Amino acid sequence: MACATPSIHTVAGGERVTDTIARPEARAGHTAGPLLDVRDLQVHFHVMDGTVKAVDGVSFSINPGETLGIVGESGCGKSVTALTIMRLLSSPPAEIVDGSEVIFQGRNLLALDDESMRKVRGNDIAMVFQEPMTSLNPVLTIGDQIAEAIQLHLAFSKREAWNKAIESIRQVGINNPERRVKQYPHEMSGGMRQRVMIAMALSCDPDLIIADEPTTALDVTIQAQILDLIRKVQDETGAALMLITHDLGVVAETVHDVVVMYAGRVVERGTVDEVLLAPKHPYTEGLLESTPSKGKRGQRLNVIKGTVANPFNLSPGCNFTPRCPYAFEPCPVHDPRIEDANPPDVACWLYSRAPGQPPPQRQRPILPPLEANR
Ligand code: SF4
Repeated sequence: MACATPSIHTVAGGERVTDTIARPEARAGHTAGPLLDVRDLQVHFHVMDGTVKAVDGVSFSINPGETLGIVGESGCGKSVTALTIMRLLSSPPAEIVDGSEVIFQGRNLLALDDESMRKVRGNDIAMVFQEPMTSLNPVLTIGDQIAEAIQLHLAFSKREAWNKAIESIRQVGINNPERRVKQYPHEMSGGMRQRVMIAMALSCDPDLIIADEPTTALDVTIQAQILDLIRKVQDETGAALMLITHDLGVVAETVHDVVVMYAGRVVERGTVDEVLLAPKHPYTEGLLESTPSKGKRGQRLNVIKGTVANPFNLSPGCNFTPRCPYAFEPCPVHDPRIEDANPPDVACWLYSRAPGQPPPQRQRPILPPLEANR
């Protein structure tokens, strides 16, 4: 049954406001439980300068037909998480640490043989990449590329695959699909190419679409069209969506649930309402404060001071300590993990009892004025 989830979609007059978008119907035929369940995922890169813990104990799940946004700065591990789910990382240098699990429809993808994983890719999980020009083959027509994927995964005849390619192109709002399928990627605009990528992702009727910064390379007008399209196809197909982005506006308008990552870890999670209207983690709060909006016109934007933690030199405590205006004694020493947190959706000692500390007050200390603090 479809249900409505309140979703933040803009920031106006200095205050965040909510809109309501309907959760799409989940597809029939799924067993109960999450469609995708990522458990304690750890991915290390062994490079000349040492080992980088690109993903460090990340857990989240997506139910059938639902949407999850993964947000965070560049280098926080969002894309590595997606590429690990798709098993597209080269090893070496990447190492998926023992104990990590990616359970999709009841199977651990990390334990599948290559042939089984090839069937999952495209067929059950499809990925839309950031820059379509680097993902599309420049010497094949659009139709050939989509039809090839369909033939590979759905065992269609050549004619059937070609017809389905035309249908997929039509589904993503491209006019005159019979002509467009005969064109090459360079004959299309950036927005059109991203539509083709979405058509390709949809062509095999996947249960999960992973979109990695699908609008980053596009201008604002086309960005809005592509987001509308993603929402529309998700409503129509009932596929689940995992949307990776650094743009909180995109998250607010597109997904129901949010995971915030920082330095390879999940630091906060919840519905868009919970996370964007009432952020708990200081990093989420900083991201929101640094997002431009109409209501902040003429005002200086607050920014998160400092830079992302050096992955070769992480402290034993909270990775956000050097940038956090609320940091206190336990922060540089003890590591707040979201799986140990109480309440369970924020990894921060402001909310959980740190070793050797009194119970937290469960309320944010009042900060001095911004200029004095940063
Ligand atoms: Fe800030 Fe400490 Fe919370 Fe980390 S644990 S976010 S440093 S208050």
